[in-house]
Amino acid sequence: SEVQEHRNQRLEALGQLAGGIAHDFNNMLGVIVNYANFVIEEAESPEPDLKTIAADARQVIRAGERGTDLTHQLLKFARREVVRPVVLDLNSVITDVEELLRHSIGEHITLITRPAEVLPPVTCDPGQIEQLLVNLAVNARDAMPSGGNLVIDTACSRLEAGEHTDLAPGDYVRLRISDSGQGMPPDVVERAFEPFFTTKANGEGTGLGLATVYGIVTQAGGSVSLTSEPGLGTTVTVLLPAGAIEQEAAPVPAPVLTAGHG
Ligand code: ADP
Repeated sequence: SEVQEHRNQRLEALGQLAGGIAHDFNNMLGVIVNYANFVIEEAESPEPDLKTIAADARQVIRAGERGTDLTHQLLKFARREVVRPVVLDLNSVITDVEELLRHSIGEHITLITRPAEVLPPVTCDPGQIEQLLVNLAVNARDAMPSGGNLVIDTACSRLEAGEHTDLAPGDYVRLRISDSGQGMPPDVVERAFEPFFTTKANGEGTGLGLATVYGIVTQAGGSVSLTSEPGLGTTVTVLLPAGAIEQEAAPVPAPVLTAGHG
């Protein structure tokens, strides 16, 4: 069913997040074990200092709380199933998922968000926007194995008649995700949105990340395109109609490439 498929894509995205998150959990567990050891050492010392024990125990609790927060964010992300478009502020969806993104891309990549100061609302399911951001962040991470910058910015965008091939003139919200990664050669750009197209070896890619992004954006009445420069990086640009819009419940059409390069 559609719900099941949606869920699977979510679990897939979660699986791809797992690498960075496992690393962070490992760090938190390391802190917990270390400070628990300090507590025991202090407690068993000839003159135990209760203040030191309390301070160390507090570190254990803090690390535990960080772990709980992260788990909650992951569960929230995994559980959302039914697509329910609402009028929402894209900037606040980005803020909601920022921590999760930061954990999953790892410390070697710097996440920079540049939200527009004034942004009209869009009509979208917030869970789908989170999924879109996760998919694009995972791709950016995979393109920057030795580190780099991931920039997420939003802006208002007004399209004049004839300015865009797929979109009617009017007000749009532009969401851009840019990385300073390896980029793509033109033949990969051409095929990037194709379902099951992947260049990732050893079963690391499903080829569904960008196809899912395409589906989400199209269903919301928007468009997505990408530009990429081998060796310099990739920018994915999403345009979503501003304001409260009618959503068609029709199935998502097959990808029509709006990709370009250079
Ligand atoms: P997957 O990530 O599972 O391979 P996607 O549909 O998300 O599937 O991406 C398809 C292909 O497009 C990737 O295998 C990769 O070659 C390329 N790609 C996507 N995003 C980026 C990016 N940010 N930088 C470089 N290449 C990318």
